[in-house]
Amino acid sequence: MKPRKSFTKSDAAREGDRERKKRALEIIKRLGRRFPAARIALRYQNPVQLMVAVILSAQCTDKKVNEVTATLFKKYRTARDFANADLTTFEREIRPTGFYRMKTRNIIAACKILDARFKGKIPKTMAEMLTFPGIARKSANIVLGNAHGVVEGIAVDTHVSRIAARLGLTKFSDPVKIEKDLMALFPRARWFDLTYKIIEHGRNICEAKKPKCSLCPLNDICPSAFNLPNFI
Ligand code: SF4
Repeated sequence: MKPRKSFTKSDAAREGDRERKKRALEIIKRLGRRFPAARIALRYQNPVQLMVAVILSAQCTDKKVNEVTATLFKKYRTARDFANADLTTFEREIRPTGFYRMKTRNIIAACKILDARFKGKIPKTMAEMLTFPGIARKSANIVLGNAHGVVEGIAVDTHVSRIAARLGLTKFSDPVKIEKDLMALFPRARWFDLTYKIIEHGRNICEAKKPKCSLCPLNDICPSAFNLPNFI
């Protein structure tokens, strides 16, 4: 039998900005309690390696990226190391992460720019980060936040997109528009950790194919609760 819902899709449709902000605060509070230690899963030893790991993580799991970088990052540590990498060798080294030709070109080109224009150091602004090939807002937010504690936005990945929509926090599917909606709802001080708490929630509870609504700490404030195909 379908459990009785306490917050429906029509409630979400009627909700005003103030109520939605209140619900957003409640969401981050509860996710904070459930996933207090949520943090970036990619492993790296310096900001340049972080940027490389983020580029490698496109269309690939963090687990696979960490397997590849465990060896890769012993050989390449600085922007210059990556900038001078031999193209064919590097392609072979990162091949298990997928899209390896494009990723190799982006990493080498980005590190050449880093070396030539930024003295090998990761810059501290979104505008500068967006000048690197292979880096869009999601990646820039991850790198800036984790490398420098600079928070200019919210990193929107596949988990954040899916869960923001399920929770009725956005109507958009474009990550840049979703990010704008979330930035308007959540206090700036929560922008950075929001991403990692939602990712943990997506990996453990609100899974893409089988959301575990009956175990979810948000099921009384989620308009999609017990209403998606294959929920348990
Ligand atoms: S698991 Fe179910 S109740 Fe929880 S956020 Fe996802 S859809 Fe909503």
